[in-house]
Amino acid sequence: MEFEFDLIVVGAGSGGLAAAKRAASYGAKVAIIEANQIGGTCVIRGCVPKKLMVYAAKSKKNMDSSEGYGLKNEGINFESNILLKNVREEVSRLSNLHRNSLKKLNITIFEGLGRFITQNELEIICSNTKKIKNKISSKKILISVGGKPKKLNIPGIDLAWTSDDIFELEKFPKSLLIVGGGYIACEFASIFRNLGTEVTQLIRGKHLLNGFDEDLSLCLEESPTFTDIKIISNAQLKSIDRVNGNLESTLESGDKLLTNNILIATGREPNLLPLNLDFLNLKMDGQYLDVDELNQTSNANIFAVGDIINKPNLTPVAIEQGRVFSDNFFNDQKRKVNYEYIPKAVFTIPEISTVGLSEKRAKEIYSEKNIKIFKCKFTPMSNTFKKNKSKCMLKIVVHKLTDKVLGCHMFGETSSEIIQMVSVSLNAGITKKDFDITMALHPTISEEFVTMYG
Ligand code: NDP
Repeated sequence: MEFEFDLIVVGAGSGGLAAAKRAASYGAKVAIIEANQIGGTCVIRGCVPKKLMVYAAKSKKNMDSSEGYGLKNEGINFESNILLKNVREEVSRLSNLHRNSLKKLNITIFEGLGRFITQNELEIICSNTKKIKNKISSKKILISVGGKPKKLNIPGIDLAWTSDDIFELEKFPKSLLIVGGGYIACEFASIFRNLGTEVTQLIRGKHLLNGFDEDLSLCLEESPTFTDIKIISNAQLKSIDRVNGNLESTLESGDKLLTNNILIATGREPNLLPLNLDFLNLKMDGQYLDVDELNQTSNANIFAVGDIINKPNLTPVAIEQGRVFSDNFFNDQKRKVNYEYIPKAVFTIPEISTVGLSEKRAKEIYSEKNIKIFKCKFTPMSNTFKKNKSKCMLKIVVHKLTDKVLGCHMFGETSSEIIQMVSVSLNAGITKKDFDITMALHPTISEEFVTMYG
């Protein structure tokens, strides 16, 4: 059978764009299907617009607390409409850059929803009219449609926002209930609180950021931003009602809360439904598409990358999966994605960063007696003259017998920039002795990583 394309990529997010561009650079004839703006979750409604909002919140926090440095301000007026408009403009600019780079590589863009009709053919459905616009075929198809927010199955849930809605707002609310204690919930709690919104956070467990090293969760909860947020733990939302233009949340306990708005941040799930995959009987891994280490699904023509497979749902991971896929199948290489020591950050203020095993996980794997912990907590010099001083925490998890560093964790300003570089050394198999013989750079926060002695 003759196909129009060598590769059809369904979904122009981080993973899909990376794969399409890399395959086209090897001379493959590539098409990409996208129903929304080019860029996907990261560029359009995730990492990029969120981080721009984090910069706004940090600027405000710095201005609010800089009097000790002689910087008097007579009250700062935050106009959320300006921030939101600027963020949307930047997102459009980046989306257009991606569109232009696809065009330069002669990648054909199809706007609409991709729907499988055979294992090699898709129809493109117009998002507005729902009419079929095109039918295209290819030897290989890469699914990279990403995820969508998971909603709670409770009465009134459609009255609440998900993170997607935040980027469409015209202005910030005065009060907000955030449900969830993970990445999205904590990052938006930090953004909104530092920019003046009254925030309440509802978590079903005991602590924020379940699964992270416990010291990181505790540092976050003790920080000035989060002590200024009302955290309701061990609680579940039961229903939402509209009351006089506000939203009333009823908890399982029967307690009620009234806020302007509610943000549901209880996880994300693969957005596979519109693809019409059922007739292909692809093997699943829970809610995710099952793939082998070459990102091949149970159908040899169909591949998957990004948030629809059961790997860390992070932009750099999706990009690498997409590039490795194209290197292997369009340039005859034999590459694999390295899932070891993936650095992670939660962009609260201050931020949390981590690479490798948490103390708890290391002790579970290697037994408590074989793990040594190095830890320090202090007020960073930058906070010397500030009113609300947040602390820094650095922690190294070491295997006692081999001296190998198994994990590094940090809470504090610029920790994501520091942990990115620490992850290079963990990937290279660094020992604690290597940290110890490295000269410190003074005065910095990160010098503590090489000056902690047991
Ligand atoms: P997370 O998995 O990080 O957090 C989900 C939160 O919702 C947890 O606190 C979880 O509680 C809670 N939860 C789940 N189900 C329920 C329920 N039925 N009722 C009440 N609470 C519930 O998901 P996010 O949506 O925050 O983020 C999704 C993914 O996106 C992340 O895992 C990450 O991969 C990626 N991301 C990365 C960012 C970054 O790199 N900085 C930023 C934002 C997103 P519990 O802990 O008890 O399970």
